[in-house]
Amino acid sequence: MAEVAVNKEEEKKLIMHAYRMLLKSIKSKMDNIDRANIRMAYEIAVEAHSKQRRKSGEPYILHPIEVARICAEEIGLGPTAIVAALLHDVVEDTEVTLDQIRAKFGQKIATIVDGLTKLDGMYSVASPQAENFKKVLRTLLVDVRVVLIKMADRLHNMRTLGSMPKHKQLKIAAETTFIYAPLAHRLGLYSFKTEFQDLAMKITEPELYSEIARKLKETKAQRTRFINEFLKPLNEALKEIGFPYRTTGRPKSIYSIANKIKSKNVPFEEIYDLFAVRIIVDVPTKKEKQICWQIYSIVTDVHTPIPERLKDWITTPKSNGYESLHTTVIGPKGRYVEVQIRSERMDEIAEKGFAAHWKYKGGSSSRDVFDSWFENIREILENPDSDSLEFINDFKTNLFNEEVYVYTPKGDLKILPKGATALDFAFSIHSDIGYHCTAIKVNKKLVPFGYKLQNGDQVSITTNNSQKPTENWLKMVVTGKARAKIRSSMKEERRKKGEIGKESLQRKLKNMKVDFEPNVDILVKYYGFTSRVDLYFEIAMGRVPLNELKTYFNVESNKLIEIEEPVIEASEVNNKPAPANSKKDLVKPRLLISGESADKFEYSLANCCKPVMGDDVFGFLTVGSGVKIHRTNCPNATNLMANYGYRIVKAEWVSSGDTSFVVELKITGIDKGPGVIERLTHSISTDLGLNIRSFYIDGEEGYFEGKISLLVLNKDQLTVAIKGLKNLPEVSTVVRIEH
Ligand code: MN
Repeated sequence: MAEVAVNKEEEKKLIMHAYRMLLKSIKSKMDNIDRANIRMAYEIAVEAHSKQRRKSGEPYILHPIEVARICAEEIGLGPTAIVAALLHDVVEDTEVTLDQIRAKFGQKIATIVDGLTKLDGMYSVASPQAENFKKVLRTLLVDVRVVLIKMADRLHNMRTLGSMPKHKQLKIAAETTFIYAPLAHRLGLYSFKTEFQDLAMKITEPELYSEIARKLKETKAQRTRFINEFLKPLNEALKEIGFPYRTTGRPKSIYSIANKIKSKNVPFEEIYDLFAVRIIVDVPTKKEKQICWQIYSIVTDVHTPIPERLKDWITTPKSNGYESLHTTVIGPKGRYVEVQIRSERMDEIAEKGFAAHWKYKGGSSSRDVFDSWFENIREILENPDSDSLEFINDFKTNLFNEEVYVYTPKGDLKILPKGATALDFAFSIHSDIGYHCTAIKVNKKLVPFGYKLQNGDQVSITTNNSQKPTENWLKMVVTGKARAKIRSSMKEERRKKGEIGKESLQRKLKNMKVDFEPNVDILVKYYGFTSRVDLYFEIAMGRVPLNELKTYFNVESNKLIEIEEPVIEASEVNNKPAPANSKKDLVKPRLLISGESADKFEYSLANCCKPVMGDDVFGFLTVGSGVKIHRTNCPNATNLMANYGYRIVKAEWVSSGDTSFVVELKITGIDKGPGVIERLTHSISTDLGLNIRSFYIDGEEGYFEGKISLLVLNKDQLTVAIKGLKNLPEVSTVVRIEH
């Protein structure tokens, strides 16, 4: 690093200058203690980092000073955050300990520095992005400033990425796109989001980036002329509103222009909304709504508006706090121009997001748009069942989306991510309402659960305590909260249903004179399940036929002993050894051999062609291991058929319905008013997953009697059905009708 000034005096000056710039950028009120703390933090950091340099060769201390300046100037944070920002890398990189920081600055600053240290540590370990994201969000709940300072840290690193090796640049850019840009968006830090996206694009798509940057520069004068022409007729009228205002005509970000070029497949020259005109008025909070609409009226008197492009985020702010009035009008030369109208306060919130929002929140009792979001994060994070990948998918849906505004029957406003469904709404009210939701009405009309909510919808939910979520529901929701709740309820349901499977297994093993422990685990392993719960559940659902156990196991002194795979004829499988996990293939779907249920035969699926349900198959009668099922296009098929035609038997897969048998049940119960048939039908078909053949019900004076015929696969499934029906609140008795 010879070319970098090693002149100690020069460097000292550089550092002092950076520090002075930091102090100048602080806008919040400070007392003497604040000033002394910032000075002390600065001195500790200078000393601690004195031997370190950045990749560029600069003294390392310039980085924390700059991060602190970004916090103060670009986010508007106060002394606590500035102190923490100055110290953000000392625990991670130097001798200074957290205890020392706590002793000197107190618990609050120590907590923030600790959060920042942990966040930094996360990139060194090879943990997946999703885990990292979770960590960031966790610190968000500890103290929002941790994430805000982290944003400043990341922004400075992105701005100075040039001296890093290319592969590191790419990694950091990807991380920024994945975690920090969406988070900045969600926190309302729009200028950060835009800069993150632009800086990341500069690394990932350098050519497109510099091409757009160059063209923007070349067309600047032309753009300025156009904007002036657009504003000129407005200015006179705007003076009359009596409050100072300013206008800007900034071009949109390079990233968003690039997106437009890609998605619309048009060249730069043909993109007409390269910029938005902003009118920002300095007006007391009480009058801002009225004045903004007055400005809207002036703008649309002069330029013709396109009505469907009007967006009013003043009456109903976005859930990240954004407030503004947007309209698109037809400007000079017939070109569309987006106009954004807002107050200075709204503008600061739009630029600095959460931090500014906090500042203005003050004493006002207005609902904090962030509270419900944090609440949402907390719920998702605290759900023990949400695994990281599901979590990240859930979360991204909620991060990127715009909102949809809907109302409860009482007229309370609910904000959900765009694309949210009627069922999401139910879960957003309360998990119990979601769990037990049986019908949803939008604007007084019944809608399917998966109905996509529209702005202004009024939604009402009907519940019933016997209702519970099914796997299908997962397809009908998009919000993280609803998905997490449905998943955990399904797990519980699976466990409950499995109880019946467990009982039948206990019975079966007792009959076979086999001890339950430890043989149950032998079965779990044999069928390739990962837990006992899975085995029990599959037994209950009739997908593990227990009557076949003796085909695969011998019993010796109360233990199941796996029957060795018989030696297979060479002609049959080309001597291929069976793969270790081939056992799973033995959990058979419905198969007919010679027109009869395959359960009546000793059979297995050939390893050479591994037929699956639906394949065209045939059976081959082996010498010692029953019928082997091969695919008709199996490489061995021709040989087998040609030479052993007499051993070939017909085999075919059938859909499960074909081999189900019909049972008739008599149900009696108490008629709790209209909808009893629907509720029963719903429970049977959706919750229990059974096919109803016919359903006849008759009742009087609050009592009903019904006859229902069901298609079931086997006795276990029938037991599940009867038990499930008995559990319904309106049902008193369920009896099987024997013919
Ligand atoms: Mn740093």
